[in-house]
Amino acid sequence: MKFALCLLALLNLGALRPVGGRASAPISTAALEELAYPFDVEAVSAEAQQPQVRVQRPGDNEVALVEEDLPQGRVYYNGSQLWKVLVDKRENIELLVTLREDKDISMWGGNSTTVDVLVKPNSVEKVRKIFKDNKVGFDIVIEDLQKVIDEENPAVIELDDRRGHRLTWQAYHRLTDIHGYLDYLAETYPDLCSVQTIGQSVLGKDIKVLKVSNGKPGNKAMWVDGGIHAREWISPSTVTYIINQFVTNIESEPASIQNMDWYFAPVLNPDGYEYSHTVDRLWRKNRARGVGQCSGTDLNRNFGYRWGGKGSSKNPCTETYGGSGPFSEPETASVERFIRSIQNWKAYISFHSYGQYILYPWGYDRVVPPDYKDLEAVARRAAQAIRTAGGPSYTIGPAGGTLYPASGGSDDWAKGVMKMKYAYTIELRDSGRFGFVLPANYIQPTAREALAALKVIAEAAYLA
Ligand SMILES: [Zn+2]
Repeated sequence: MKFALCLLALLNLGALRPVGGRASAPISTAALEELAYPFDVEAVSAEAQQPQVRVQRPGDNEVALVEEDLPQGRVYYNGSQLWKVLVDKRENIELLVTLREDKDISMWGGNSTTVDVLVKPNSVEKVRKIFKDNKVGFDIVIEDLQKVIDEENPAVIELDDRRGHRLTWQAYHRLTDIHGYLDYLAETYPDLCSVQTIGQSVLGKDIKVLKVSNGKPGNKAMWVDGGIHAREWISPSTVTYIINQFVTNIESEPASIQNMDWYFAPVLNPDGYEYSHTVDRLWRKNRARGVGQCSGTDLNRNFGYRWGGKGSSKNPCTETYGGSGPFSEPETASVERFIRSIQNWKAYISFHSYGQYILYPWGYDRVVPPDYKDLEAVARRAAQAIRTAGGPSYTIGPAGGTLYPASGGSDDWAKGVMKMKYAYTIELRDSGRFGFVLPANYIQPTAREALAALKVIAEAAYLA
């Protein structure tokens, strides 16, 4: 098991926030033979107490308009195939690493037994022959990625404006629809909802937060975000679904929901989100102008706790480029500034996709915080709530240990610096059938189970 994990760390998939573990055999049981608990317990590091160094943090007025950088037209994936590749031998991993270096493939995600690999159209025959010669097992999961992309998101049925907003949970919507919905809620439920713009993206788009609160003094606070990674469309849809459930049913919700100050940020990476709609469906990072031809910073490697460590790249051309310094990006800096301005935080939840995981700190290494048992217990109850709600199995575990370390993640910062006790990254559906390109008819079942998990965490936060 450990051997397999090391091999996967070699791959440094770069597609996801640390994902992994095998759904059938969570690492905590597999490694129990060796240790009472497979990860060393590590409290907040001394370095986190010191002021963070900020490099190239744009001023509020410094909005770089780099629309001219947009490539001509859209990126198409005709003939690109998604393969599920067996990684039961070390040689298989080494082959994948070579193929990636040769730009024949890219990695989407995986666990200790299989890796989801995107094969470029012109490399399909080459890779197939290499796999055959080396007896590497694989299944073709998607024959033509562009076809799946084309069918993923049905055209939004134009409804008349009686409802006052355009958002549905039958399709993935553009940023203006999502922001329009937040503004609509603030207008319609002024005693419960308010919208704040906490900052702007690299390209000057607003980053909006919806506060849902009954205004009781002494309420605890919870943060829920989505859309840190552009292509993970199910994440913003899930956050707005949860908002809708809470706002329209608040009086029938338990005290842990009603007497809580909720802060929802559905799209933390608005430039990347729009870019994934208009240009490249598989875009992950923000749209910061980079070095040479490479642009974008991985916002989930840009937070200021153990920034720049394992699983984060210094190379702007990689998917896991952590930026020029902690909070170097206006998107993450806005979150930092806003979260620091509020007291009484108890929980931080960040929705990503895919893989079906409930992950808790630490992400930066294979270590866990001193209160990991509390985090583990709540994660277990959340995963049970998902199954009770009719959902699939979600694997739970510490982020770094469940597959490989990734530093600069938002949950580590929430836990390590802001002391939010219950900090989780939830990787939503699926487990690799569609991956990032999850068809829109999965929005409601996925969001429903995420809501069930969130309620469990809210209850724990309420009692904390
Ligand atoms: Zn993600």
